Amino acid sequence: MNEQRTREDIVKWGRSLFERGLTAGSSGNISVRLDDGFLMTPTNSCLGFLDAERMSRLDATGKHISGDAPTKEQPLHFAFYNKRPQARAVVHLHSTYATALSCLADVDPSDAIPPITPYVVMRVGRVPVIDYIRPGSADIRPLIENIAAEHAAVLLQNHGPIVTGTSLEAAVFAMEELEETAKLVLLTRGMPVTLLSTGAIADLNQTFKLK
Ligand SMILES: [Zn+2]
Repeated sequence: MNEQRTREDIVKWGRSLFERGLTAGSSGNISVRLDDGFLMTPTNSCLGFLDAERMSRLDATGKHISGDAPTKEQPLHFAFYNKRPQARAVVHLHSTYATALSCLADVDPSDAIPPITPYVVMRVGRVPVIDYIRPGSADIRPLIENIAAEHAAVLLQNHGPIVTGTSLEAAVFAMEELEETAKLVLLTRGMPVTLLSTGAIADLNQTFKLK
């Protein structure tokens, strides 16, 4: 994997997510696993105005070796990388609808996004909710590690979504799908909704196996 190209891809996708209002201010962070370490967005950076040369570079053990200091929310990222070998990128946002869903008292903590469209099943899978932990605290790490092998995405209660992918582009697309589906879930809340059947979900999982 070409590191310079990856740095530029993080800048490109960060700007795209920011410009579409998917994360505000200095919220949200992105990382990519390289062959010999990680690239991460710097702490207090705005995803809309990242600099490829100042991206945080960490070695394979997670030690910061160059660029600006990495995001304080790095435990979220390492929890996935540690337990999900196929994860090459992690995207965490405070996007409005997925975060709204994470604040609902009656959301199912084992399955926060009902299967209302085939795309959420294909790109995101089942999304559990992780109990609230102060942002940046390493206490979140074991909670995510418990479920990271089985799930590509989670909602942090009262905080926001985290999505992984086998590439940065795949993680961003899955995040967009999660956010759009959260929007549909909230728009249809209180209305009678037809969910995909168990058979339809099994067929999707078999045909488009989520990695
Ligand atoms: Zn956050």
